Amino acid sequence: MALDWFNLDGKIALVTGTGTGIGAGIAKALARAGAHVACHDRGDEARPTSEEIRALGRRSIALSADLSKRAAQDGLVADALKEFGRIDILVNNAGMIRRAPAVDYSDADWDLLLEVNLSAPFRLSRRVGKLMIEQGGGRIVNIASLLAFQGGILVPAYAASKGGVAQFTKALANEWAVKNVNVNAIAPGYIATNNTAALRADETRSRQILDRIPAGRWGVPDDIAGAAVFLCSDAARYVTGHVLAVDGGWLAR
Ligand code: NAP
Repeated sequence: MALDWFNLDGKIALVTGTGTGIGAGIAKALARAGAHVACHDRGDEARPTSEEIRALGRRSIALSADLSKRAAQDGLVADALKEFGRIDILVNNAGMIRRAPAVDYSDADWDLLLEVNLSAPFRLSRRVGKLMIEQGGGRIVNIASLLAFQGGILVPAYAASKGGVAQFTKALANEWAVKNVNVNAIAPGYIATNNTAALRADETRSRQILDRIPAGRWGVPDDIAGAAVFLCSDAARYVTGHVLAVDGGWLAR
């Protein structure tokens, strides 16, 4: 039956940045679809999400790693494998944003954003993708942004990092499709999370953004979670190298 195609029973997922926002929504939705989930965050923040998942009857562990540090990126995969022995689904969700005019944009912020938003997802995909190839298949979902397509305002490093995420998604998909490892990205629209707190606090920008969203509302993390479940499921078995906008119609306008 068609609904079985969305079933993730017994799959092992590693999701980054699950303490809050989109990552928490995705981790819990994967678990509701049947997956066991290694929940990551920078410190202790993934613990409540992990506890909610265990309450659903799935296995879960809370892992911490500062993804600006390469040794911690490598350690995260090792920790997930130590607990579960395999990884069927990787969701590279953790990310950060720093706003400043381009002429004032510091090297430190540029380097930090490129490391956390672009290099960490690539390095995690490289490590986990190798395992998935050995295992005979897997799913990788990278969380990009509308700023993979547009330049944004005051966010040059963020736009550069998310453009890079969309491109390496396609590059890995081309190599790994034949190995049954599908690599896709989601480009969320404007979602009410910590990431957009400053924008929502700015009355003018907040109104300008809302006025431009065809759906007439900001998104919420669960709006993204359904798309993630789809891309991780058998229903999306012939979908790879795709950047799926989940944006209330923003890009269509
Ligand atoms: P969020 O609530 O700020 O979540 C971001 C998560 O990433 C947090 O758990 C954060 O942990 C974690 N993180 C950041 N830097 C980290 C680091 N160095 N090491 C480990 N973890 C780190 O924002 P969100 O909106 O849910 O963002 C999730 C993803 O969606 C991001 O990649 C973001 O760029 C993308 N996105 C969001 C929107 C939107 O409108 N909200 C739109 C497009 C794309 P801490 O809490 O410890 O910082």
